[in-house]
Amino acid sequence: MPHIAVVGSGPSGVYTAQSLVQQGSVPDVRVDVLDRLPCPYGLVRYGVAPDHEKIKSLQNNLRTVLHEDRVRFLGGVEVGPALPPAKLLELYHAVVYCVGAAADRRLGVPGEELPGSWSATDFVAWYSAHPDARDDGFVRGVRTAVAIGVGNVAVDVTRMLARGAAELLPTDMPQAALDVLAASEVRDVYMVGRRGPSQARFTTKELRELATLPDTEVVVEEGELTLDPGYRDPVALPAAVRRNVEVLRSWAARPRRDAARRIHLRFFLRPVEIVEGGGRVAGVRFERTAPDGLGGVTGTGRHEEIGAQLVLRSVGYRGVPLEGLPFDPGSGTVPHLAGRVLRGGVVSPGEYVAGWIKRGPTGVIGTNRPCAKETVASLIEDAPAVVRKELAQDPLTGLLAAGVRPVEWDGWRAIERAETALGLTLGRGSVKIPDWAGLLDAARGASGA
Ligand SMILES: Cc1cc2nc3c(=O)[nH]c(=O)nc-3n(C[C@H](O)[C@H](O)[C@H](O)COP(=O)(O)OP(=O)(O)OC[C@H]3O[C@@H](n4cnc5c(N)ncnc54)[C@H](O)[C@@H]3O)c2cc1C
Repeated sequence: MPHIAVVGSGPSGVYTAQSLVQQGSVPDVRVDVLDRLPCPYGLVRYGVAPDHEKIKSLQNNLRTVLHEDRVRFLGGVEVGPALPPAKLLELYHAVVYCVGAAADRRLGVPGEELPGSWSATDFVAWYSAHPDARDDGFVRGVRTAVAIGVGNVAVDVTRMLARGAAELLPTDMPQAALDVLAASEVRDVYMVGRRGPSQARFTTKELRELATLPDTEVVVEEGELTLDPGYRDPVALPAAVRRNVEVLRSWAARPRRDAARRIHLRFFLRPVEIVEGGGRVAGVRFERTAPDGLGGVTGTGRHEEIGAQLVLRSVGYRGVPLEGLPFDPGSGTVPHLAGRVLRGGVVSPGEYVAGWIKRGPTGVIGTNRPCAKETVASLIEDAPAVVRKELAQDPLTGLLAAGVRPVEWDGWRAIERAETALGLTLGRGSVKIPDWAGLLDAARGASGA
């Protein structure tokens, strides 16, 4: 009976499992979905913003796959030095790596290490209750925050900084983060891009949402927007970008209102230094840029400083190497041919990749579905050769012998129940458990293991 391991239970891992069991092209296939965390769903649980309930509810679709008879969720299993890829290949017929690309890119400017300067990833992990998150309080004592970058994640963190307690209460955000954000005195949030509005990667829906936040004013500067040739003459822009530009134009034309919080959208500013004051972040120094006529920007030598006590950089994600698996540091991905892992340029039998670690951190959740399908098509094509070997035992027996103590589906269900119970005690809906001990206690309490 073919037994495949999928490493990672984010969208790409779950879509891979779904393709494997649905296509019927690998008869009697069994799929183990391994994840280093005791909880499934990857960035759908630990990245998608808590106030985006509709997108979060995609977890229900992913759940039906992991709940399938032929699919087994094995949480708390980290592939790495203690359980290397070579060992997995002994235990399974094939292994599909869907480990994501959750490391953040650096700005490479002085002051980046100052207290108060964080990656958006750190902030997201904290409000999403990732058990590895560091709890810095982030917004304590902060009146002005700067998010560097104008992509989807920058919009998320900007919005979360501007949300009030009443809007956060119905989310599943962990209580400690909710308490801190509810007491936040942040008044101004700057979201700053080094290029122009016609090059920003947020969607019109995300952009418009910023103007729907209660008691929050979105501020744009007409003089800055008009630096962008695409803003001055949007006719040639793709429709989605043109819509963004039109939204910004309508905001620029509005009279300013008084509001408790302001979101400032700034463009053509490139960070050159995180400024220190009293041993921590006191602001960001930017160089004004200008379009270079080739679709990029060039420095102008003019500078501007924005005073701030919190800086969140959101300039992209990248994959991290997994020991024992090839890695291309240039692209931050695993080299592959239609999803087949390449070792030294040669296909490595039985090893595959899908999702962000295969194609880089781009696209929406749904993009991972065709990506996983392509990989599974390759695996199915290779199946006659790959599934030939006899497995000595159920791979789980081998994993246990290797010292692994997985959290299985019942354990995960127990975590969900514990989160519902926690929410009840707090007068809220389900509330996420933010630490390893709490998660494992909940999971193991269930199985009595
Ligand atoms: C902050 C943020 C917000 C986002 N919001 C949206 C949104 O609103 N809408 C949208 O469409 N897309 C959104 N995305 C994009 C979306 O989350 C990704 O497209 C998707 O999660 C990528 O799927 P993946 O399976 O490749 O990686 P991931 O979702 O990152 O899953 C990887 C999984 O692998 C596990 N893993 C990693 N290393 C190991 C290991 N060594 N051993 C075992 N397991 C391991 C991880 O624990 C994780 O569960 C967002 C992304 C981010 C970063």
